[in-house]
Amino acid sequence: MHEDPPAPVRTAPGPPPASASAPPPGPPPGHSATTIERGSFCLARCTCGWSGPARRSRDRARTDAAEHLATP
Ligand SMILES: [Zn+2]
Repeated sequence: MHEDPPAPVRTAPGPPPASASAPPPGPPPGHSATTIERGSFCLARCTCGWSGPARRSRDRARTDAAEHLATP
């Protein structure tokens, strides 16, 4: 036989920790995609480390970059 005592539904009304004076270390890494050329190919590259597939046209690479920027 197992009986669970009714848990009291009561949360301590404690005030939230005031840590507003501690900003995050450094700004969040944003996304800044650019297109770079490699040989006869062009590929998109972002400052976050992402890089798109090699394209034969710069337009395609630019589209890859735009798509990456639009995707979180
Ligand atoms: Zn990125």
